[in-house]
Amino acid sequence: MTAPTQGTGIFFDGVSARQQAVTVTLDADALVIAAADGAAIARWPYAQVQRVPAAQHRLRLGLIDNSSSARLAIPDAAFGGALEERLGVPDAEVDKRERRRRHRVVEWTVGAVVALLFLGIVGMPSLAELLLPLMPPSVEQKFGDTVNRYQLAAFKGSGPFACGVNDGEKPGQAAFLKLMGKLEAAAALPVKLHPVVVRDLYTINAFATAGGYVYLLYGLIDFAEKPEELAAVLAHELGHVAHRDSMRSFLHEAGLSFIVSAVLGDVFGTSAVVFSPVNAVLSARHTRREEAAADAYATQLLRKMGQDPHAVAIYFESMLRRGSLGSSALLADHPTNQERMDAILATPPGEVTGGPLLTPEEWTALKLICVVPGSGDVGGQAARSK
Ligand SMILES: [Zn+2]
Repeated sequence: MTAPTQGTGIFFDGVSARQQAVTVTLDADALVIAAADGAAIARWPYAQVQRVPAAQHRLRLGLIDNSSSARLAIPDAAFGGALEERLGVPDAEVDKRERRRRHRVVEWTVGAVVALLFLGIVGMPSLAELLLPLMPPSVEQKFGDTVNRYQLAAFKGSGPFACGVNDGEKPGQAAFLKLMGKLEAAAALPVKLHPVVVRDLYTINAFATAGGYVYLLYGLIDFAEKPEELAAVLAHELGHVAHRDSMRSFLHEAGLSFIVSAVLGDVFGTSAVVFSPVNAVLSARHTRREEAAADAYATQLLRKMGQDPHAVAIYFESMLRRGSLGSSALLADHPTNQERMDAILATPPGEVTGGPLLTPEEWTALKLICVVPGSGDVGGQAARSK
């Protein structure tokens, strides 16, 4: 009997939570994945395919290099067997690895239960707080990459998600990167920053997620009167990056189920664990403590840059006043209160020796970073309603 060379599978694109029934064909050197209507979806060379953990007796595959979180599940045992033979992964080896992995899960689960019991008794630090130091930067980076892909996929505006990529936008992008470069150099964070101006014209906001992603929504650039205002807000966001606040929110949401899937090794694949927490993280408000810590970080960073450390309070306040004319998501996310302002203003004033962060020409260019080529208009649509 010859082994089957074609069968059915279930494909997960690694971006959305959608699963898709597909036809899988075993070619000479690759497996070819096609939609039910025959449209090609992907071609995975055998050498780049690996088995990822799945429920017993079920074959699930992904790419070795992690360039994509896409997964392919093969429910049919006979076809799965034929596929495994092509991949050249001996069963015994897979089983051994799988056993080792399951062993680790048991150990981790026992550890987690002990930790939970401890929390029940002591009651003080949150589970997220305990887990955060255990998360290696590589996991945080992967999480940030996943959130970023998710945002790109969810973006409904016209034109690319990021501004600064079209021809007329390049000088604005250069100015933006110059401003971010000054902040990044002074901050000297352990992660590399991935700053993005989001093509969202009306939302006055900025936020940071795991892995050094910093999103500045165009609405805020439009609203700001000088680069130092943006720098104060961005310095605050870098505080969230430095303190890993996004990762903490995620751990808070995903908790124990995250650990289990992390140990299983398929964290950012298809596990349902990821998608709802990604949403939760994007809509999460930081705690008051996190906000205060980010403010404190921002004042120090601005002082280091030779900028006014009180700018954080002054600009948030002035934006509050001006922002009350329209709606400002920034202020919804960062409620200003006297306590917060007082804490910032109580820090020693710095000597402003740094000079202007951008030249007037660069500032003008930055204001035009979301221009649609040809139209002369600033274009795009809201990416995020928050
Ligand atoms: Zn904040």
